[in-house]
Amino acid sequence: MSEDNEIMIGLVAGSGFDMESSGVELQKMPDVEFVGKIPKADIITPYGAPSSDISILRVRGVLVAVILRHGEGHQLPPHLVPYRANSWIIKALGAHIHIQFTAVGSLQDHINYGDVAVVRVLENATERPLPDLLEDVRVAIHPSLAEQTCDVLPKLASEAFRKAGVSNVHQQAAHVTIPGPAFAPKFKERQWKDTGYDLIGMTSVRPSLVLRQLRQHWVEIAIPTDSSSIGDDEEVNALLVSRRMKGLEQLISTGFCNFVEVLGSKLHLVDCACHWPMEVANMSKKITVEAERRLILSEKPHPYSCGWSKLIS
Ligand SMILES: [Zn+2]
Repeated sequence: MSEDNEIMIGLVAGSGFDMESSGVELQKMPDVEFVGKIPKADIITPYGAPSSDISILRVRGVLVAVILRHGEGHQLPPHLVPYRANSWIIKALGAHIHIQFTAVGSLQDHINYGDVAVVRVLENATERPLPDLLEDVRVAIHPSLAEQTCDVLPKLASEAFRKAGVSNVHQQAAHVTIPGPAFAPKFKERQWKDTGYDLIGMTSVRPSLVLRQLRQHWVEIAIPTDSSSIGDDEEVNALLVSRRMKGLEQLISTGFCNFVEVLGSKLHLVDCACHWPMEVANMSKKITVEAERRLILSEKPHPYSCGWSKLIS
């Protein structure tokens, strides 16, 4: 179990969490205590401000830092989300586990509204390179993305959502990320479906390199809210996504609380390749002080992880 004031887990919550009472409200769930908010104006990262204020929640005894990916009221389109700042501050606050919640479209007949999909494959179809923590400091490292998410967390997440009552949990989902902010044309969705992809969205792959550079254990939990390419009568739009996420609020919240509880008690079981060794990363001759700051390499607690409670408003 974690120390009383140690943030163990970061959560980046996407569409459906950022519309206040019309979206999922984790902080109002019975097993969740709202500890406070760190204003984003008080946070300094090498990459600017995060998407939103950071809510600190105590979930069944475990402290979780929550960022709204698109900001309060869904202000930021997918290509303007500060993925680097969001990921960096979660690690700086002390978290080694990074959970990403994403509303997605289903591309396959067997994945439906009410299911949960845990993602293992991420395709970058955004037409942009992945955000990189080191791109402007003249240090090149090449971590492996052979496994794109943590090896261990998907199984634990799947068990947590089954325990919450989800009948169909898809544990090995393949997710394609499109440019956005527009939803994809139907003919493109059919192409991705025929290629074998399960899910389609606008954000998921974008922080994957950054999270590997930060050596975070990370997992994506995707909530299928629509399936426009496979016969859904209702055309997908932002209001539909938010309404359907709200409809699953109890299920999502209970599954999340179950997952956090397991992570709080079984962190020592997380034994995976996320802490890849720098030595094999074909890196530049010398890691500079600035690169170390960006990668948060020091084993010492970061000033944010020791001092976050002073920033609570
Ligand atoms: Zn891991």
